[in-house]
Amino acid sequence: MPTPNNAVSKSEISSVPLLDVGRGNLPLKEEIMESFSQIFDSGRFIGGPHCQSLEQSVAQHCETEFAVGCASGSDALLLALMAIGIEAGDEVILPSFTFFATASAVTRLGGTPVFVDIDPQTFNLDAAAIERAITRRTKAIIPVHLFGQCCDMQPIMDLANHHELEVIEDCAQSIGANYNGKPAGSIGRMGCFSFYPTKNLGGMGDGGMLTTNDPQIADRLRLLANHGMRPRYYHQEIGINSRLDSLQAAVLGAKMKHLDTWSEQRKENAARYQKLMIENGLVDQVILPSANSNSRHVWNQYTIRIPNGWRDNVRQQMTDMNVGTEIYYPIPLHQQVCFSYLDIDKSTLSHTAQAGNEVLSLPIFPELTAAEQEHVVKCLSSAMQAQTTQYRMAS
Ligand SMILES: *Cc1c(COP(=O)(O)O)cnc(C)c1O
Repeated sequence: MPTPNNAVSKSEISSVPLLDVGRGNLPLKEEIMESFSQIFDSGRFIGGPHCQSLEQSVAQHCETEFAVGCASGSDALLLALMAIGIEAGDEVILPSFTFFATASAVTRLGGTPVFVDIDPQTFNLDAAAIERAITRRTKAIIPVHLFGQCCDMQPIMDLANHHELEVIEDCAQSIGANYNGKPAGSIGRMGCFSFYPTKNLGGMGDGGMLTTNDPQIADRLRLLANHGMRPRYYHQEIGINSRLDSLQAAVLGAKMKHLDTWSEQRKENAARYQKLMIENGLVDQVILPSANSNSRHVWNQYTIRIPNGWRDNVRQQMTDMNVGTEIYYPIPLHQQVCFSYLDIDKSTLSHTAQAGNEVLSLPIFPELTAAEQEHVVKCLSSAMQAQTTQYRMAS
């Protein structure tokens, strides 16, 4: 059973989950069930009015002309690369410090992922590193707006324009974020979104969407996501089956209305962590995440760094104290077995490797209570204390 909000006094907290999707979904249960019932009766399970209206509200929220639903964030990335014609021999520049799907979309089309390093402050792509990686074969850049914060897009767009490269934004973790006022997904040629349950707009299964201002691209995405078929059983090109289903669209439509409130709550939770970490003297021991001042961070994750090789022990202790944490991501993509065939100069990815050893994500979901956050910070503090004591004894 999820802990009811505010119903538990501080001293009674004995566990805090990393994420409790039930707390966000439960208040919407009746509304969602009602739309499920409508869909049941309609017999229309793929596409339909719920999908159209979700596309409209995502496009509106992202300030783009078009939004096209698909089956997942992974497929959104794949479709985006198909739409710009990525094929064997093409290079696509992307971070190594991201979820696997950003890179697998490239390799599925025969393209070569070219991993570049991150800015250690934001965990996002470093424009100078991108510039060094550009070759005659480079066709596109995939900036990943990691943990809910946009990449520094101006220098990336300048580079892309100068070298005539396509920019596909991976917005899986950043719906609602903006960069200097421009929404994530409205800056590059396309934005790719995921509705996986752990994302800021999470469905009850898989789902995804693409945003774009280009009418030809929008049309091509629709074609590619439906077997390249137009009209029925006449195939213009080789597409895939990647459609958004009505039940997911209904859930997401109900949740979309609360997205801004939830983003605001995540932001408040991030501010509260910062305050608590300062109060508990943790700022000298761990590195807190930073948010760029002119942009809107939507805090899909609250990711701290724990240096000195202490991260895994600290995490274990927090697990023992029933505090949920996660490591996004323990093995950067350039170190994955499946990419060992690529010719990678690992010395160019030192910030990425270090992040993989130091990051730890704490609970930050919107319904998390202040008392729970205090508990998380208290547990972190005691785990850090234990490490310090151990370190002193050993030296
Ligand atoms: C979740 C995620 C994806 C993939 O989305 P799915 O909907 O799970 O396929 C891609 N990129 C990033 C950065 C993600 O976090």
